[in-house]
Parts: sequence; C-alpha cells; structure tokens
Amino acid sequence: MEIPGYQHIYSGKVRELYQPTDAKLSHLALVVATDRISAFDHILSPTIPGKGVELTQITNWWLDQIDFPNHRTDELSPPAELADRAVVVKKLEMYPVECVVRGYISGSGWKEYQQTGSICGIGLPAGLKFGDRLPQPIFTPAYKAPQGEKDENISFEKVIDLVGLEIAEQLKAASLKIYAYAAGVAEKSGLILADTKFEFGNDPATNQLTLADEVLTPDSSRYWDKAQWEAGVRDQSFDKQMVRNWLSEQWDQKGEPPTLSPEIVELTAQRYQELRKKLTSH
Ligand code: ATP
Ligand code: MG
Repeated sequence: MEIPGYQHIYSGKVRELYQPTDAKLSHLALVVATDRISAFDHILSPTIPGKGVELTQITNWWLDQIDFPNHRTDELSPPAELADRAVVVKKLEMYPVECVVRGYISGSGWKEYQQTGSICGIGLPAGLKFGDRLPQPIFTPAYKAPQGEKDENISFEKVIDLVGLEIAEQLKAASLKIYAYAAGVAEKSGLILADTKFEFGNDPATNQLTLADEVLTPDSSRYWDKAQWEAGVRDQSFDKQMVRNWLSEQWDQKGEPPTLSPEIVELTAQRYQELRKKLTSH
C-alpha cells in the first residue's frame, strides 16, 4: 500500500512499517496493523475483517494506562484515513527477545512442562494440569528469530548472552510488573490474562528501556473468561486459539495451511471485538 508522505520499510506478519519521507522525521515510524492473521508462524488467508483496528485500539487503550515509557509519540499524526489502525512511534533499537510472562500454564509452556517439568529452565511443581494457575507469574522469554525462522523459548542465561545482564534484568522486571498490573485490570472485566508477550527497545533519544509493538492484544496474549475458568472450562479463549484448534484439526502443519472457512473468519472477528468491548467498557 502506498501512503503519501511515507516510504515502506518493513513487512511483518501482521504489521506494515513505514517512515516519513521527510528526513527530519526519519527517527519516527508509522505502524499500520493489517487484518492479516498468523498462526504457527504462517500468514493465513483470508484476512479477518476489522482485526487491525481492534488490535490498534486495544494496544492504545492499554498504553494509556500502563505507567511505563512507550514508543508512541504525537510528534506527527497518522494519516486520517488510517487513524484507527495506525500509530506513529519512535523507532527503537529493538531487543531480540520476546518477553513472555505466564501466570497460567498453556501453549508452548504446557508442552515444555510435560517434557521437562520446567519452562525456560524454571522448575515448576509436579502435577500441574493444563490451564492451571502457576504459584506465581514467571518470565519465560523467547528468542525473536529473524524473519522466516521459528521463535524458540530460551533460558534467562541466554537472554543475558543476547542483551547483557543489566538489560536482561530490566526486561524481566518490567515484564513481570506490567503483567501483574494488567492481570489485575483484566480481572475487573471478568477476564484472566493467562499469558502475554511484550517487546521492548532502547529509545536512542533518551537511552531508556521503552515498551514497543502491540501490547496486551489477543494476538500477543491469552485471555480467558474468568467465570468459565472457575467452572473448570480450559479450552475457551478470546485469542486466536480457536483458529489454531481449527487448523490443527485439518492440517498436519506441513506445507501451506488451508484457507480459513467463512464461519471461522466470522467467529474470530467477533471474538476480537468482544474482547475489546469487555476490556474497555470498564
Ligand atoms: P516479525 O518481525 O518476525 O515479522 P511479527 O510478525 O510479529 O514479527 P509484526 O507484528 O507484523 O511482526 O510487525 C511489527 C514489527 O515492528 C515487529 O518486528 C516489531 O518488533 C517491530 N516494532 C514494533 N515497534 C517498534 C518500534 N517502536 N521500533 C522499531 N520496531 C518496532
Ligand atoms: Mg508482532
């Protein structure tokens, strides 16, 4: 997509990044959230109508409340026609670590626990069941692999190797703190924040650790309905788990994934909307 006044710099699986053509503003980026959906590291088709808007609005809503430096800036407004799905941000020196925090056990954490009794080298009590609450939230980082490669869970020692001890400690502390705050906020809306992933970078202007990317969206987090969880339901969610489950039923994860059915597209679009309403109406 051409955007007057901007040049395209990067395509992620979900977002497109641009920078202003004005050289004086080259420290800024425009992040546009598309309606694309990815699962198991594949971009699926078709798109989920309205998803990019929901993701952008959910991120903005969280960033308005989280007391931590973040990448948004009002130095420049996004183009009016993209205002609901784009944000202008400071370009950061991103750390190649996905800062995952888990308060409950599922996803790749559950797989790892079943094999090793631990996640990212953190030992856990025996006998945990899928979806159980952990004794306390844990920091379970993943290496953000270069485009096209699969991200992998890593130990805290590996994070230190990647970014140094001081930044590693800061990433862990910030992630745990923001998770604890957000889990409390989500709970007031009847939601469990089972896990989430943050990305941070260094702001070259201030040298401050700064929260970037999408924040606490259903793409980067698992949200569960608290009442259902308390009733013992362990397979419900507001994220793209539904899509992952649908894919798993009809695809062995070899070759290209099948096209999503109209029904699953519609259901997914509804789930994203429903989550935004639940969160932001409180
Ligand atoms: P990948 O980078 O592997 O494509 P992804 O599929 O998650 O990851 P998207 O979420 O679609 O990518 O695109 C967003 C990209 O922009 C990510 O690579 C993210 O790290 C990067 N990003 C987010 N905020 C900033 C920022 N303030 N400065 C620089 N890069 C950023
Ligand atoms: Mg991303």
